[in-house]
Amino acid sequence: MAITGDYHTHTIYSRRKFFPYFHAKGTIEENVVSAKNKGLKEVAITDHGFNHKFFCTYRDNLDKLKKECVRLSQKYDMNVLLGVESNIISMDGDIDVNNDDYKKLDIILCGFHKCVIAKSNKDKKLLFARNKWARLRKSDKYKKENTAVFIKVIQKNNIDIITHLKQDIAVDPIAIAKEAVKKGTLIELNNKHYHFTDEELIGMAKTGVKFIINSDAHKPSRIGGYENVIDIINRLNISKTQIVNWDKLPEFINYKRKK
Ligand SMILES: [Zn+2]
Ligand SMILES: [Zn+2]
Repeated sequence: MAITGDYHTHTIYSRRKFFPYFHAKGTIEENVVSAKNKGLKEVAITDHGFNHKFFCTYRDNLDKLKKECVRLSQKYDMNVLLGVESNIISMDGDIDVNNDDYKKLDIILCGFHKCVIAKSNKDKKLLFARNKWARLRKSDKYKKENTAVFIKVIQKNNIDIITHLKQDIAVDPIAIAKEAVKKGTLIELNNKHYHFTDEELIGMAKTGVKFIINSDAHKPSRIGGYENVIDIINRLNISKTQIVNWDKLPEFINYKRKK
């Protein structure tokens, strides 16, 4: 196994608020066991951020979840990181993670998701309502403005990984990659939600940005599933040295490994 860790996995803590069933299937321990069985050295638990209207992890639970990650790290002799897949909530690059959350979390992922509580009514209109319809018509104006939002997100926050770019929102991934290089933010190659054209992936690689391959598993058996992405990077000859979790453990902005 060339990939050393899976840093984007969901558990039952990505809970549906109003329904008696779960958005993702596994417990933290089931995710850890699956990662261990696949030969991974690290796994991160990254449930959806706090402003998601229908499925999110809860701030009140973070201490409990962190304790569970520490317990499982010892039990299975691997690093189990607690993170969150945060949401973009404003056109100004705000996300739904506050300073207290940073102290409790090992890594911060961030992606665009629909059905998220926006910071203001204006953000609700420009970031969510408008993009819902914009997907149907291709608008360069919206794409430019959305790209600017991601650039602000990277500048304003300490984000370790930008997840599934282009999912539900039109952006220029090469422009975003140029900003990510400056900050040390990683661009995810998401095995479940992969949307780049070949030209975009090659263009991003040319910026020198670092990539991270993740499964975005919503059930334990999918952890460590990278087959789609590996086919693409092999076909396009993307250098493995540019992939931070290939044959080595990644360096993150937030998470510092104990030596
Ligand atoms: Zn996501
Ligand atoms: Zn996810």
